[in-house]
Amino acid sequence: MSSPGNAGLYSAFVHSAPGSFIAKQAGLPIPTPLRRYKPSEPALPGPVLLGGSGRLVEPLREILSSPDYELIHNATTGKSADKYGAVVLDATGITSPADLKELFEFFGPTLRSVTPCARFLVIGTTPERVSDPDERVAQRALEGFTRSLGKELLKGATAQLVYVSPDATTGLSGLESTVRFILSAKSTYVDGQVIRVGDADATAPADWDKPLAGRVAVVTGAARGIGATIAEVLARDGAHVIAADIPAAGEALSQTANKVKGTAFPIDVTAEDAGAKLAEHALERHGGIDIIVNNAGITRDKLLANMDAARWDAVIGVNLIAPLQLVNTLVEKGALKSGGAVVDVSSIAGIAGNRGQTNYGTSKAGVIGLVDAYAPVLAEKGITINAVAPGFIETAMTAAIPLATREAGRLMSSLQQGGQTVDVAETVAYFANPASSAVTGNVVRVCGQALLGA
Ligand code: NAD
Repeated sequence: MSSPGNAGLYSAFVHSAPGSFIAKQAGLPIPTPLRRYKPSEPALPGPVLLGGSGRLVEPLREILSSPDYELIHNATTGKSADKYGAVVLDATGITSPADLKELFEFFGPTLRSVTPCARFLVIGTTPERVSDPDERVAQRALEGFTRSLGKELLKGATAQLVYVSPDATTGLSGLESTVRFILSAKSTYVDGQVIRVGDADATAPADWDKPLAGRVAVVTGAARGIGATIAEVLARDGAHVIAADIPAAGEALSQTANKVKGTAFPIDVTAEDAGAKLAEHALERHGGIDIIVNNAGITRDKLLANMDAARWDAVIGVNLIAPLQLVNTLVEKGALKSGGAVVDVSSIAGIAGNRGQTNYGTSKAGVIGLVDAYAPVLAEKGITINAVAPGFIETAMTAAIPLATREAGRLMSSLQQGGQTVDVAETVAYFANPASSAVTGNVVRVCGQALLGA
């Protein structure tokens, strides 16, 4: 995958022999090399421990009984392992604040018995959908537990919370893609996140390694950086990719398209007819589009006091107005198929704000608004919309940040390092998976649980 190999001077230093010695003496953080997806490797570095006694424990047991996992359900088997690769609790049985003690009792003893890069997963019931006040309070509390646990975990381990609609059917096919994503190396830089899974049933793909087979995906800003890697990952998962970028990106765009055996589509996403041209091309050549990833984005940083109108307009135009218009036009022209997915790229700057980025922060918070506003509208057409909000990702964009700020950006997260473009791309691919049809209206940060935006 096209990701710069430079993981940072600090990381290189603490992983050298003298650097590691000094770092240990001085109590400095030593970031753990993160596990990333390889088709030949097992999903997890060790067995999964499943606990809890809520309404989802049986469906979870079924999902985790796949040959892709070694399941240890000690409530039924009494077995245990020395080191777990994942620890999963069905917390839907927690219906009062006093019951929250189950979190302490279940997870506490496991913390010293996990492999590096282990996954902790709490499954709850969507609090806004719970009518009993005690249960709603207790379910909402799961968020504080999971986010705090994420901050305590060591050695590349992560913690996430998945809320499942109380109206989801007992088969819970809609939950499987999310569980599979979290309990794999694909979610390596996603930490401390909350994902909501709705009522809809989903169909499992014939092959979980090729879930996008037969699908057509458009990726904007695909000539380089995160967009180029999104194109690669969607193609790896079986999609035909239409790689779009500005005409000036020429050679780099062709390279991406060739690499993924897709189509290069030179276009400025801010052009008035961008959506219409894309729709026409997709309808003519492919009978429509299944996935659109609005990744093209720019920064034009200045303190607001020094901001000129051109910087403001350019950033809002590319990052916010273009994704909005593209989706509207593709839907209007019937080019975005039912069963499809829209994935937008926001930023943690759109959640926390960032000095010198009033224009960028506005645009990226607007993208979150776009997800909120369009999720119910697109749901009527059987289309999902979600966003990823990257944190510090190693790209040309972040390589341009001054050295000290760059090193701080890398270290100020629970995983104590920057992410790779592939980490964002894997999250996009999870949203794009047709088995994620019950997953809509979410914003997932891919930021290693960065302190910024937490
Ligand atoms: P990048 O600058 O490396 O790539 C962006 C691509 O978008 C370029 O190829 C560019 O030509 C294209 N583009 C710009 N304007 C366009 C237009 N009008 N029409 C078509 N294409 C256009 O940036 P990146 O770091 O890969 O970022 C990709 C996305 O991720 C952006 O939306 C960015 O805001 C977001 N993001 C990045 C980071 C990070 O750490 N790199 C963090 C948060 C969010």
